[in-house]
Amino acid sequence: MTCPICEKPTVAVYRPFCSRRCADVDLGRWLNGAYAVPSTDPDDAEEALDALEDAPPDGTRPH
Ligand SMILES: [Zn+2]
Repeated sequence: MTCPICEKPTVAVYRPFCSRRCADVDLGRWLNGAYAVPSTDPDDAEEALDALEDAPPDGTRPH
């Protein structure tokens, strides 16, 4: 397996990357929208919707 950023051999700690730097590079691309969807897990979206529905409609929160 090789690093998808620089194609050096992968290091287990940073898998699938070869280094922290390449992991950061990939994260930067991800945040910049190189990938279309942040999460491909539909359960995440459902949980987010459930959290919104549980919020009180008037926005008051206990301290
Ligand atoms: Zn790399």
